[in-house]
Amino acid sequence: MYTAVFPDHQFYFWGAMSDRARDILADVFGYTTFRGQQEGIIDHVAQGGDALVLMPTGGGKSLCYQIPALMRAGTAIVISPLIALMQDQVGAMNLLGVRAAALHSGLDREEQMQVHNGLMRGEIDLLYVSPERLMTHRTLELLEHIQISLFAIDEAHCVSQWGHDFRPEYLQLSILHERYPQVPRIALTATADQRTRTEIAERLNLGQARWFVSSFDRPNIFYRLAQKRNAKKQLLDFILKDHAGQSGIVYCLSRKKVDELAAWLQRHGVEALPYHAGLDAEVRQYNQQRFQTTENMVMVATIAFGMGVDKPDVRFVAHMDMPRSIEAYYQETGRAGRDGLPATAWLVYGLQDVIILGQMLAQSNMDQNMQHLERQRLTAMLGFCEMSGCRRQELLSYFGEEREETCGHCDLCVEPVSSWDATEEARKALSNVYRTGQRYGVTHLVDVLLGKSNKRVKALGHESVSTFGLGKELSQPLWRSVYRQLVARGYVTVTSETHGGLLLTEKSRKLLRGEERLELRRDRYEVQELNTARPEQKLYGDNAELWEELRALRLKLAREREVPPFQVFSDATLRGMMAQRPSTLDEMHQVSGVGQFKLDNYGEAFLEVLSRHTPEDA
Ligand code: ADP
Ligand code: ZN
Repeated sequence: MYTAVFPDHQFYFWGAMSDRARDILADVFGYTTFRGQQEGIIDHVAQGGDALVLMPTGGGKSLCYQIPALMRAGTAIVISPLIALMQDQVGAMNLLGVRAAALHSGLDREEQMQVHNGLMRGEIDLLYVSPERLMTHRTLELLEHIQISLFAIDEAHCVSQWGHDFRPEYLQLSILHERYPQVPRIALTATADQRTRTEIAERLNLGQARWFVSSFDRPNIFYRLAQKRNAKKQLLDFILKDHAGQSGIVYCLSRKKVDELAAWLQRHGVEALPYHAGLDAEVRQYNQQRFQTTENMVMVATIAFGMGVDKPDVRFVAHMDMPRSIEAYYQETGRAGRDGLPATAWLVYGLQDVIILGQMLAQSNMDQNMQHLERQRLTAMLGFCEMSGCRRQELLSYFGEEREETCGHCDLCVEPVSSWDATEEARKALSNVYRTGQRYGVTHLVDVLLGKSNKRVKALGHESVSTFGLGKELSQPLWRSVYRQLVARGYVTVTSETHGGLLLTEKSRKLLRGEERLELRRDRYEVQELNTARPEQKLYGDNAELWEELRALRLKLAREREVPPFQVFSDATLRGMMAQRPSTLDEMHQVSGVGQFKLDNYGEAFLEVLSRHTPEDA
């Protein structure tokens, strides 16, 4: 077992501190180099400083408090919002030989006593605890009797009321500082939202903390968005072609759709499970557990499936409906590719999504001001779907990160869309909205432009408006595209009172008066066959057989220990073994992700598999 043997950090000057951190990185975690700002953060906290760490999902936040916890004397208290998250972390720590434990409502008396005793004897280096548990009289009392090395507040955005995961108990965490002014605190979150960040600093009383802000780019994620045509089939094609046999999450707006789609995927040979708040707690937990511990499971879910998802090998996140904002889109797609290996963020959308989300918003109990803001965020999301530059540039710039170059790793970089001068057509489309009274949806509006004398058009007397039959130069899908883009660019809004009727905005005036020109993007209607290498192939190169054997061994070991396979070794570590082909324990230790404890426990077994495949097989 690994023990914090660093007696008193004050005796060590900076250089030695840094060496010590690097030793732990190598010995315990099996990694050779720090990522991004990890080293700076660790030094700062190990020396007693407060820190606010803003790093994207998969950036490596955990090490930022785990290593200082092992460097400083005493027990680190890690506040975490979900039992599932705590258990995962403790399990992973124990597999590394680190003395970690958790205190939460799921423990029986016996287990609680064990943790208490371990703490009193100074045998626990990291204690994970939920905020409500921490605030009980009993726990606070317990803390009085032990030496605390630091406080880590994970998922710190839970303190924000505007965020998606607000937890009132997080508000009380500011008392930690009042009680223990000398103990360093480190708050961590993956939120990219500026407003939430400021709120975290305020509410947690982190005014003096140093901010460590990383780039929020997720370079391994490929962004891919398309219009809905036959959404289910589009999804199935995508999964079978690019991610067969891999783990993924599919988000849908409604519970009903989740159930239907999960069953449909099952019937089409994809291992899929449903997850939404309407399922029994037991079923939900079971499904989440299955997802977490299998390597080829697709979870079809509403956004109720969120924060607890820290599975590193999720290879894709698919959206069957448009998320309500770019923030939500970033957050949800961020669950793909935590391990840094190639992953895809896939989405299909249509104007109908905007209408439904708008209606949900209208029915919510938000005040008018908030509703207005949310509506703007919704339009911005549609704008993102309908854009024509580089997706990554746009996404990052939305969060205040400007970057010069296009990414070369999104659908629009790989296959740019062209644009056309749509000034005249846009004017016709807008004036058609006006002439028909600003209350009808796109289907009807397009019928009028195309001069269709159907029942509805007749009944409403729209054969006699001046725009009737005025738009025969474009096809129906093209007119739909024009309207969608007009919504995305804010020339018209979708109103929920009229169930998706379009309404002109102030912005449309100039265009209508002919004082402005407008370029729109030319939509693709063919099935998008992007010329990217398939991520699945990139995962293991050509040696599928060795890859499968390594995975099988990992699965066997994981089953024996009742942990998820990725906790034994990550995919990245297995890939490292395939690339480096270690033949001795020493060489095995060089592979990234193989620390001392795992080397002792699993090294031989993996060497044995590798020895049966000479590199020539590759
Ligand atoms: P986050 O909490 O920021 O989403 P994690 O702490 O779960 O990210 O780390 C993501 C993955 O990256 C984990 O598998 C972790 O072991 C790995 N990792 C973290 N730091 C390093 C490093 N310095 N070198 C190699 N792998 C790392
Ligand atoms: Zn790009």
